[in-house]
Amino acid sequence: MPPVFRFAPSPNGYLHLGHAYSALLNSDLARQSGGRLLLRIEDIDSTRCRVEFEQAIFDDLAWLGIAWEQPVRRQSEHLTDYRAALARLAAEGLLYPSFESRAEIARLVAEREACGPWPRDPDGAPLYPGAARRLSPDQQARLLDQDAPSALRLDMATACVRAGHLAWTEQGEGGDGETGRVEARPLEWGDVILARKETPTSYHLSVVVDDALQGVSEVVRGQDLFQATAVHRLLQELLGLPEPIYRHHRLIRDPAGHKLAKSSQSTGLRELRAAGLRPTDIRQLVGLS
Ligand code: GLU
Repeated sequence: MPPVFRFAPSPNGYLHLGHAYSALLNSDLARQSGGRLLLRIEDIDSTRCRVEFEQAIFDDLAWLGIAWEQPVRRQSEHLTDYRAALARLAAEGLLYPSFESRAEIARLVAEREACGPWPRDPDGAPLYPGAARRLSPDQQARLLDQDAPSALRLDMATACVRAGHLAWTEQGEGGDGETGRVEARPLEWGDVILARKETPTSYHLSVVVDDALQGVSEVVRGQDLFQATAVHRLLQELLGLPEPIYRHHRLIRDPAGHKLAKSSQSTGLRELRAAGLRPTDIRQLVGLS
């Protein structure tokens, strides 16, 4: 079976040099290995994603000379797939609803931090400080009825016991330079949110469901997602999904060493194209021959 690669941008801004590197690397690897290249539009956040950004993604990738298979999978069109995965986790007793707003969570964390540091996930966000797991079924039902803001969280400790030891195969320039079989430590992420009332999925859930449904065998993406792979391996294990190979690549940074932002004019592909650069110049700028 030929390997299957994918580039999976979110249409919440215009693509920059970092996206170009990721897309070109996926495209090169697919071509060199006789594999397939898929494009997936990760548009579950309806407040930030826009159709004009999606069209710009198609235009920029085509300009770069990248060819992808049709049809393109748009996550917002597949919410039933994510609901089915959630139902499976719920049936296993691995989910619980929490009802705090973002502001309440920030207040709870501040309270805890008055007594010392509160644990944070690998991205630096505080772990869930609430007590929702201890609500009785009656209390849960009442809050759900009251239309309170709610999020479905993974009971991480139970999920980790259920899944046992987890690892993934890393072929890239790993976060800590790790390659080979890397131990996954999803516990560090705490009780991650897998769905919200207004969005019946999350990045973590949809990415593993889609990679499996689309038969993706090689996940090539930025190093900023290296640590999140632990959560992805856990969900794959809990949902009985196959394990792809991962290759986390270096990030393209600005001269000051910062990660590129979608709003940055100086590294936006549209701006660089308007300034007269050609696709070969972009390859050179991101260090691809
Ligand atoms: N949609 C994610 C992003 O734009 C990438 C997800 C992935 O490659 O797993 O950062």
